[in-house]
Amino acid sequence: MSRQDKATTERFTKTLRELVKQPENKVCADCKRNDPRWASWNLGVFLCIRCSGIHRGMGTHISKVKSVDLDVWTPEQMESIQKWGNHRANLYWEAHLKAGHIPPDQYVEHTHFCALPLPVFDLTS
Ligand SMILES: [Zn+2]
Repeated sequence: MSRQDKATTERFTKTLRELVKQPENKVCADCKRNDPRWASWNLGVFLCIRCSGIHRGMGTHISKVKSVDLDVWTPEQMESIQKWGNHRANLYWEAHLKAGHIPPDQYVEHTHFCALPLPVFDLTS
């Protein structure tokens, strides 16, 4: 496993801490609790510790969970979480789950490694 240089890792951590201060990322994507410190980088959402446990339980083929504060993030993971974030991810997932429509082209790549459809939003109800 190749190690990322420390400066890059620190820059990513700083970016993540900025991201969780954004209004849409300030609450858990699943249960809306304040101050999520975890994220599913492939789904592109920030999560509280409880929901991060649920996501972990789904398996890494569905949701890839990392800590905002403790884990080393790779450029690929940063790109995904920055591209999505709670607001866009929720719009996408909720629209998808309700309508069951085929995702627009720009989402295909994301869809591809997410193994749709997922019961993500049913877990908290
Ligand atoms: Zn939560």
